[in-house]
Amino acid sequence: MKTTTKKKIKNLKPVECVADLRYRCTNCGLDHWISLREAKTKNFMIVCDCETLLKVKQIQTINVVYVEDTTLQNSPVNIKQISASAPVVKQTDDKIISQACAVLSTYGFTKQEALDIATRYTDKESFTDVKTLVSKILSNLEKTA
Ligand SMILES: [Zn+2]
Repeated sequence: MKTTTKKKIKNLKPVECVADLRYRCTNCGLDHWISLREAKTKNFMIVCDCETLLKVKQIQTINVVYVEDTTLQNSPVNIKQISASAPVVKQTDDKIISQACAVLSTYGFTKQEALDIATRYTDKESFTDVKTLVSKILSNLEKTA
């Protein structure tokens, strides 16, 4: 009996949220508490003790954000996803970029054009050899030409 009860209460979410909001009078600095229901009301007004009329900016909703399931985060699948989407720390060697520029110049690129295009590619991913970088640049040029 106990185990079934435990299962039933797992991941229970609230059916309603009650929140109070505090507003500060711009004239005298006095604080006023209103309910979420009041804050959701169009043109809701607070009359301060200093006789200032305070119009409350209408609220649409308050979202409940749940803490992510930590058991899921620690699973091997998720670790794989995190490392795959992590930014590439390794950078392309400057020597490879300058060699690629030299090759590109033989295709009619100016020094600056070659450097710009090589930098654009090496910003996105890391290259370990000149050939891969140059062939990638050239194959993409053919597609766009
Ligand atoms: Zn006031």
